[in-house]
Amino acid sequence: MERKKLYLDGKWVDLDNHFSVKDPGNGEVMAEIPAAGTKETREAIAAAGQAFPAWRALTAMQRADLMLGVVSEVSKRRDEIARIVTRENGKPLAQGLGEVGMTIDHFRWFAEEARRAYGRVIPHQAAGKRHLVLRQPVGVVAAIAPWNFPLVLAARKVAPALAAGCTVILKPASQTPLSSLLLAECFETAKVPRGVFQVIAGPAKPIADELLSNPACRKISFTGSTEVGRTLIAGSAPTVTKLSLELGGHAPVIVFADADMDQAVEGAMITKFRNTGQSCIAANRIYVERSIYEEFLRRFVEQAKRLKVGYGLEAGVDIGPLVNEEGLKTALAHIENARESGARVLCGGKRADRSDGYYLEPTVLADVPATAACMLEETFAPIAPVCAFDSEGEVIRQANDTPYGLAAYAYTTDLGRAWRLAEGLDAGTIGINDSVPSTSNAPFGGMKESGQGRELGSEGLDAFLETKHISFGGISDPS
Ligand code: NAP
Repeated sequence: MERKKLYLDGKWVDLDNHFSVKDPGNGEVMAEIPAAGTKETREAIAAAGQAFPAWRALTAMQRADLMLGVVSEVSKRRDEIARIVTRENGKPLAQGLGEVGMTIDHFRWFAEEARRAYGRVIPHQAAGKRHLVLRQPVGVVAAIAPWNFPLVLAARKVAPALAAGCTVILKPASQTPLSSLLLAECFETAKVPRGVFQVIAGPAKPIADELLSNPACRKISFTGSTEVGRTLIAGSAPTVTKLSLELGGHAPVIVFADADMDQAVEGAMITKFRNTGQSCIAANRIYVERSIYEEFLRRFVEQAKRLKVGYGLEAGVDIGPLVNEEGLKTALAHIENARESGARVLCGGKRADRSDGYYLEPTVLADVPATAACMLEETFAPIAPVCAFDSEGEVIRQANDTPYGLAAYAYTTDLGRAWRLAEGLDAGTIGINDSVPSTSNAPFGGMKESGQGRELGSEGLDAFLETKHISFGGISDPS
């Protein structure tokens, strides 16, 4: 068991209070982490504020060079970091490696995008005037990340904020702070100036309260539950702290009779079971057109039964443990509730036969009524509720009948229908015949209660820039 330190103002800092990080795959305590509170958060904000003028004064190319130095360090340590992501979160190692790869891609993309933070010259309305629009960094930024993709979801905030010229304090989830601390080691080795990037960890409430109430912290970029997102909206009112919020999801997957069945089954498998179902854009409801319903179920169940459940570092594992006991309890309650509501359990439906960790058998539920808990609440587990539909209009209404609007997926070979779905589904990201739509260069974020603002793409950089209008008067007409 390791005793870790926090990375604050370019130094590794220990504190009196600590908390433990447990491997959800076997319950082992992996590390003890110093628990920061109000005082350390205030100090981190002050250090980030001191580092800000010099960091923003660098050219975008100079900042990009330093960020590419971080990329180089992360690349060198790819295997080590992936193993830590796997151990702290539980995901299979291949997916941990994928997460590190995407983190590298985010850093590279935003390092390049920084040089495109263009302003504008606006044609003037009054003679003798000229108007400019400048884009400038927001200032000190806090990034609050969840445990389900601990590294890459932090990178979606940290990389664009740094590229824009902001300084950043990262607060990882208490379940998964270790990959963030490894990232800090990479920043240190890459010689990024002190105070530009810091990692603070500990109980969320006192840290968040200081981030919200301290006027020097100009923005909080948060990924996590809608419930906590609401508390941040309320808490940001007195200081009008800017917020970007990536919140919960309840993605529908719609499979039409005209779809390529192999593609639809494979796509539904990926969107449902990747990351052990613990993804904000995971399929939460699968709607299949009635004429192919039984055939889809037969093929989907056949593949679900082949998934290997096990410890993330074991070879060939597809499904790891759920992150904690509470996650497992919710999943089992959703299965029981669906069964009581009349659903058929076609495979899984119970805790996996292992004495360690929080393992659930991959579960497929058929004929799930719209009122079942798993059709209404985020399940965050390898549970696939499937039901039949009869018409396009009906299924679009059902898909949109949720307070969430993060992602939606549809499988069809009819081009007109694909357009109607793209326009008619209420979600920030829509995959048409695509189960992995997220990419560094396209915006990602939620409609309705799934959030505010966008990450990734040029919008991801905009989120950390202020827009300033400069009006020049007294310019004489040359004629
Ligand atoms: P969570 O409980 O909301 O926690 C997320 C982060 O917020 C953690 O760092 C947590 O710290 C911190 N936090 C907890 N209470 C807080 C408070 N009062 N003020 C400020 N920060 C606070 O969510 P989670 O269980 O980790 O993550 C799962 C949720 O995230 C799901 O709803 C999922 O859909 C959503 N999510 C959304 C996206 C997206 O891009 N839209 C991506 C991934 C996940 P502690 O760990 O220390 O409590």
